[in-house]
This record gives sequence, C-alpha cells and structure tokens, in this order.
Amino acid sequence: MNHVKDQLQRPLRDLRISVTDRCNFRCSYCMPAEVFGPDYAFLPHDKILSFEEIQRLVKVFVSLGVEKIRITGGEPLLRKDLPTLIHMIDAVEGVKDIAMTTNGTLLKKFAQPLKDAGLQRVSISLDSLDEDRFFEMNGRRGRVKTVLEGIEKAAEVGLQVKINMVVKKGVNDQDIEQMAAFFKERQHILRYIEYMDVGNSNGWRLDDVVSKKEIVEKVNAFSPIQPIAPNYTGEVASRFEYADQKTEVGVISSVTDSFCSTCSRARISAEGKLYTCLFATKGTDLRDLIRNEEDDEIVLKQISHVWENRIDRYSDERNEQTMKERKKHKIEMSHIGG
Ligand code: SAM
Ligand code: SF4
Ligand code: SF4
Repeated sequence: MNHVKDQLQRPLRDLRISVTDRCNFRCSYCMPAEVFGPDYAFLPHDKILSFEEIQRLVKVFVSLGVEKIRITGGEPLLRKDLPTLIHMIDAVEGVKDIAMTTNGTLLKKFAQPLKDAGLQRVSISLDSLDEDRFFEMNGRRGRVKTVLEGIEKAAEVGLQVKINMVVKKGVNDQDIEQMAAFFKERQHILRYIEYMDVGNSNGWRLDDVVSKKEIVEKVNAFSPIQPIAPNYTGEVASRFEYADQKTEVGVISSVTDSFCSTCSRARISAEGKLYTCLFATKGTDLRDLIRNEEDDEIVLKQISHVWENRIDRYSDERNEQTMKERKKHKIEMSHIGG
C-alpha cells in the first residue's frame, strides 16, 4: 500500500466513476435541452473506458488508498450491462463500499441485479413530487411515478436508499416541505442539495440558490429536527433527525459551506480523464496511458503524481474573481460525474 496525500495533506479515499456522458433526462441545472440538443456530440463508444479498463484503474486507485467507489454519469443505468461492472469492481480486493447515483428511471428493472452484483447503496435524484413541475425540471422526459417505483424496488431488494433533491429558487422550493413529509412517512433519507455553479451551461446565479439555512428552517417548521453527528470525517451532508422519529434528513450545502479541507474525492470521466475537483477546468488523460501501457506501476506513478500535486479548494476560494476566471472553462457535471 502506498497511500498518497495531496499538497494540503488530504488523502485519496473516494473515487467517482462516470460510466457514460449520456442521459435520458435534460435537467435544466445539469444538461439543459437548449445546449444538449439532438446534435450534441456525445462520446463515441470507442472513446469510453471499457469495463476491463475501469476495473484496472480501480485496482490502482485502491492501492493508493481508495476504499469507496461511486458510479455516476450522465445516467449510469444507460450503460449496457452495468451490473457486470459492479460485479467486477466488487471483486477488487480493498473496495469497501460501492454506491451509485441515478435518476431512478431504470431502477425498477435493475435494482435486483445491481444488488446481486455487489452494489450497497443508491442515491436517487428526485426534485419534486408534482408531476408537472418534475416534468418541466427534467426537460419533459421522466415521471415521478417511475422514479418512486425505482426507489421502492431498491429498498425492497435491500439497497440502502437516499433521495437527492436539488433545490432551485422559484422553481421547486415550494416542494421542500412536501418532500420532507413524503419521505419521513416512508422513512427514507432525503438530502436537499444547494444548486451549484458546476459546468457552464446552466446559467447559474447566486440568486437561484436556496441556502441550507432556509431549507433547514422550512423542514424544521414542518416537523422539528435536531442535528446529528457526521458518519465520518469529510462527510459533505449536514445531518439531522426528526425529533419525533429516527428518520434522517440532510442538506448538502456546497455553496454556502465549504468542504475542501477534508475533500478526498477523485473523479474519472467516461472517457478516462482524472479530475481532482468538481469545478476543475482540466483533467489528466488516463485512457491513452492504460491503452498504451501494460505496466500498472506507470499508471500508478501518474495518478500519484497528480494527487500529490493537488491544491484544489474551489469552494473555499469561491468569489467573484474565481468564478469569473473559470467561467466557460469548467467541465460539465454530466461529463465529470456528480
Ligand atoms: N443522472 C444521475 C442523477 O441525476 O442522479 C447521476 C448523475 S447527476 C450529474 C449526479 C447528481 O448531481 C444528481 O443528484 C443531480 O441532481 C446533481 N446535480 C446535477 N447538477 C447539479 C447542480 N447544478 N447543482 C447541484 N446538484 C446538481
Ligand atoms: Fe441527467 Fe442526472 Fe444531469 Fe439530470 S442530473 S440531466 S438525470 S445526469
Ligand atoms: Fe473538493 Fe473541489 Fe468541492 Fe473543494 S470544491 S470540496 S476540492 S470537489
């Protein structure tokens, strides 16, 4: 084992792998339909990492200290035979936790095979329970009913379930209480996510953000909540529990708080680029390296080199100037993987 630390002494613990840049939704805050239209050039198949290439990279990352893997996208369940990849990752010695983030539309079909393959946890995105509002937010592609069926199936087969709701001012902030009530009753963990300035396509403005403070006030007014301790150092969600029921609810305040000091996440895009920050403007190509290089030691050296030189702390430093500098140069969320 050769555990690496970056310039701010942060270890490499988590790896997020985007398995496709495609999606069957067009959420306005992520892949707005005006930008990701019929002519948008998604990656051709031969430019995407194969399952064998992903497994090889996972082995190298584990030897550098990674313990947790999250599969994401685009929409990960659009990738053919995804359970096979989960199985291959589960077979890597040293992988302690495999999770996935999905929009849930295909989960009813895949929950059982994913669980059988070794998936432990799933975060399902759902921004509203109102069919019309949800339909508008996802670019008129998906129905609440389908996502709810996916959520229930995932819970039924024994996957640990969390629900993610991105809150956008004037768009779905009126749904905060209703979402809390619905998932409290079903005893599922709900996480509200502050709308973030990722990518360059969503036209993000600070005015569109509903802050953690406002969200907590609304949930607390619906049903009193109290803070609970983080599960582990570096957890990004502020966790709460209802005073009258042991159901957790949380907020990921990536805009009004900063988690950089404990950020141990690396990301690999579907085409095999390594990113050391969600707000990165450039990545390091690993695909050509593993396609040209038989020796894992060389791949390991390259990844160590990138991590050891890492200085990212965008959230810490987010201000008018840094936002302006990165404007138009950031990598899209659907590409880098959320
Ligand atoms: N398609 C899957 C899904 O929607 O769950 C996985 C990929 S998606 C990029 C990962 C997560 O990022 C989702 O929970 C999504 O809601 C969140 N996300 C996307 N754009 C965001 C933004 N601008 N601000 C905050 N969260 C965002
Ligand atoms: Fe697709 Fe997920 Fe982005 Fe929505 S948030 S467009 S479901 S990748
Ligand atoms: Fe990590 Fe970058 Fe987010 Fe900071 S801004 S917490 S370094 S991903």
